[in-house]
Amino acid sequence: MDLEGMQQLQEVDIQRDQAKRELQHILDQISDPPFVGALDDEIVNQEEEASRADQAVREAHAVVQTAERRIEVTDRRLYSGSITDHRTLEELQRDLYSQRQQLPPLTEAETRAQYDAEQAHNAGTWLHNLRTGALDIWNERQSQLEVERSTVQEQVDELSRQVEILRDQMVGEDLDVYDQYRRRRPRVVATVAGGVCAECRITLPTIVVNRARRGVRSVECPSCGCLLRVG
Ligand SMILES: [Zn+2]
Repeated sequence: MDLEGMQQLQEVDIQRDQAKRELQHILDQISDPPFVGALDDEIVNQEEEASRADQAVREAHAVVQTAERRIEVTDRRLYSGSITDHRTLEELQRDLYSQRQQLPPLTEAETRAQYDAEQAHNAGTWLHNLRTGALDIWNERQSQLEVERSTVQEQVDELSRQVEILRDQMVGEDLDVYDQYRRRRPRVVATVAGGVCAECRITLPTIVVNRARRGVRSVECPSCGCLLRVG
């Protein structure tokens, strides 16, 4: 049995397994930005809120304009000179006074509505900027991952070529044994140095080491089950 050939093959196979895991890890991270959906929903909500706030400003403004027009009309009637009746004049004066008293709260309400609308628009801008910034970072990371992906894919391809070359050099019987063992564990062959199995670090009984050294037939490590190769 070509234990040396198997050992060479397993080292390349182990490297390839690791490269494949690395590749999978990279592929798992390549995706569309997961946060965009939620952020887009929030942006839509914020736009709706801003447009409601704009509507409130228009309404508050219309209320102020109506009140101002009423004051103007009352004022004009009062000082037109056409009304001479004392009681009517007094009534108009009272009306004018009360209409003027009502105006400041209305203009205050308009100012408040304008402030609310400004806040709503600012929040929308902030969300837009957040989305743009987050997307930039995400896209940059994705480009990095693409570069890493192609590098690791090249490693996997190169290791696969090496695996094929090594497998071509081995006889079919050894390959069958190798594949059978490798389905169960990453390492098929373990080197024995100073009577110790390099895979599991157990000190092997001398009889096992001697049997493995003779190499008449394959000997497994009693602890980890690897085929033992005495170097
Ligand atoms: Zn062992």
